[in-house]
Amino acid sequence: MKSVLLPLASALRSGEITSVSLTEKYIARIEEKNPQINAFIHNCFDYALESAERADKLIKGGNAPILAGIPFGIKDNICTKGLPTTCCSRILENFKPIYDAAAWEKLKAAGAVLLGKTNMDEFAMGSTGERSVYGPCVNPLNGEKVTGGSSGGSAAAVCARMAPYAIGSDTGGSVRQPASFCGVVGFKPSYGAVSRYGLIAYGSSLDCIGTLTSSVSDAAIVFDGIRGRDDRDRTSIPSPTGKKELKGDIKGLKIGVAEELFEGCSSEVADAVKEAVKLYESAGAKIIKMSIPALTLALPAYYIIACAEASSNLGRYDGIRYGYRASGYSGVDDMVIKTRSQGFGDEVKKRIMLGTYVLSSGYFDAYYKKACIVRNNIKAELEKVFGQCDVLFAPTAPKTAFPRGYASTNPLETYSADMCTVPVNIAGLSAISIPCGADKEGMPIGLQIIGARGADLTVLDCAYFAERENAFAHCDKGEDDYEL
Ligand code: GLN
Repeated sequence: MKSVLLPLASALRSGEITSVSLTEKYIARIEEKNPQINAFIHNCFDYALESAERADKLIKGGNAPILAGIPFGIKDNICTKGLPTTCCSRILENFKPIYDAAAWEKLKAAGAVLLGKTNMDEFAMGSTGERSVYGPCVNPLNGEKVTGGSSGGSAAAVCARMAPYAIGSDTGGSVRQPASFCGVVGFKPSYGAVSRYGLIAYGSSLDCIGTLTSSVSDAAIVFDGIRGRDDRDRTSIPSPTGKKELKGDIKGLKIGVAEELFEGCSSEVADAVKEAVKLYESAGAKIIKMSIPALTLALPAYYIIACAEASSNLGRYDGIRYGYRASGYSGVDDMVIKTRSQGFGDEVKKRIMLGTYVLSSGYFDAYYKKACIVRNNIKAELEKVFGQCDVLFAPTAPKTAFPRGYASTNPLETYSADMCTVPVNIAGLSAISIPCGADKEGMPIGLQIIGARGADLTVLDCAYFAERENAFAHCDKGEDDYEL
């Protein structure tokens, strides 16, 4: 893990490179690598070069924001005015929003250079990056493996050095899990820390915009560029105050290790995370072993709540207002039925049906209401936990990247593999995944560091310790060809 953004920002300022030359370099890289990896599904290279020219002027003028002139990619469920935003679904084919998402608006104002939109599981439902109408995204580290998902394209773009950083979204792990599978850093801020305005809704009470980067320092820089309260998202919260600079100061930090988050993990994953715990302990952190039984219910609660919210959120796709409309229909009902039948993929249909079922009058109490009660219990338990410790250490995923095609034949196991990430969304917490080891095939293992809601800077600082100490250098992945 080392910063890519800091050296780029300083080379842009010293005049060693220009934003235009840097953008051209990344465009060439995408043209070379993307045909095999499929991380980018809509490119906007002309727009990128125009933005780069503007950024060069901004930088010359002095005082440009740190992200000015640096190219990046953005997940296809985040609205980019005038540019395709399809959620990798047929139902949004050709959709071009008439407004920008808040996060992109901020990056645009900072002079960031958008290269294109990244591949994802349709409507962010999935954990492999394969369920996209544009075809699967492939893990750059091993062509037989998935990238993880749903922000698989964003993780793969960073891993394959097709972009210095990328933006994703995390409803139940979709930033952290692909980061873990691709050996990059995935940061999911506290719920509300980044405005959801313009993020196409999946599960609104869980959705969160996050970052995919090569290092923790870069995650902090990008987070700083997109966070903040926004009146257009009434659930957004003010930016954290207090220390801003990353120090990696972990002396006396209390790290909780909950046994439930290791259940079902492969021994390679569990061992790598336990090694990381030891390393922090030997550097002065205090380890607190604990049990949080409520966490075992996070997975079923998540899938009930996420599907319920999705069934409501996706009701807006009817062929009238957005994207695809089926042809050859007779009457409005038939048009809506045909549009949805043809426009949504199987996983999305499954979740809409499941969500409608758990919200239906006869089953509401038995499923949705119960899931909300479970959610409140988990929140309360975790609040107590963060009274005893500053962060929790856990695996990001119980196993390393699945083989391609595995999810379609093993759906339950794939859902279960979200068990370490979903409690964070259920309780609105902050969490980061950093690479901390590799399995025997050389595929990366992610260490997840979880903090209380609002403790984003504590999480980043704790993770930064590993970067500063170069603690997991043995498992650095990706091609190291960042020469300017
Ligand atoms: N894998 C989880 C799901 O399919 C998480 C998705 C996400 O975070 N967007 O719901």
